[in-house]
Amino acid sequence: MGMPRGPEWGHFKVLKQNKTGTSKVVCLHGDHEFWGGASRMGYYFLGNNKETGGLQLCKPKNEDEKQKVAKLVKQLRQLEAEALALSSRCNT
Ligand SMILES: [Zn+2]
Repeated sequence: MGMPRGPEWGHFKVLKQNKTGTSKVVCLHGDHEFWGGASRMGYYFLGNNKETGGLQLCKPKNEDEKQKVAKLVKQLRQLEAEALALSSRCNT
């Protein structure tokens, strides 16, 4: 049940989980905590959605972490592009 977990989950530590499936997570790259699910985690790195509910973007704590985040963003964008290509194929 639930959404499949994407690569973004590997960049957080889950602190708490409530009954609706929302998790309180802490980002491993910058110690930033927030509540959310997979989609908010994606927005946290990509920042490409209006419905972030005031969610800040990831602020990596050093150069090393910054590079890891950049790599993840690239990976997420690729997955996004693939999903888009797949859905447009289904609509034709
Ligand atoms: Zn972060």
